[in-house]
Amino acid sequence: MGVRGLTGGGAGSSLPFVDHDHRTMRIALRAAQDAAARGETPVGACVVDPATGEVIAVAANGPIGTHDPTAHAEIIALREAARKLGNYRLTGLTLVVTLEPCAMCAGAISHARIGRVVFGADDPKGGAILHGPKYFEQPTCHWRPEVTGGVLAVESADLLRSFFRARRGKPTTAPPEQT
Ligand code: ZN
Repeated sequence: MGVRGLTGGGAGSSLPFVDHDHRTMRIALRAAQDAAARGETPVGACVVDPATGEVIAVAANGPIGTHDPTAHAEIIALREAARKLGNYRLTGLTLVVTLEPCAMCAGAISHARIGRVVFGADDPKGGAILHGPKYFEQPTCHWRPEVTGGVLAVESADLLRSFFRARRGKPTTAPPEQT
């Protein structure tokens, strides 16, 4: 296992992965739209069993509405999947998220022993996989999932851009930069 940056699913397997990744990213994008409809930064995530393609949990970003700074889409999806499976470890499962995870979520992904992370848009400001702390590359990180970035990145970034553009037109009712 290792961080593969923006590469596909590996030699000989990238095509099925791409189809699979697009299908599940569209599910995460729908959750991101739900977040936007509630005034939350549009980020969505799902946990998928790569062996069967089953979507185990879907979640939308929700820290403002839940008064919970940890309620990022990834954290909620990991919690729901772990509860459903009755196991705090999600070894080998895939986490799909519309935006590059932050440091908190990267830590949770590692603790959950997620096998693969698929994300959409890069987040140079708050991301912690390719940017900032590059969490999975640190020697103190003891579980490193495979990483595929840039899946439906344009759709994901467009959703974020139009959300912030619309919000800039209104008086601010919530603190900025909640992802
Ligand atoms: Zn996060």
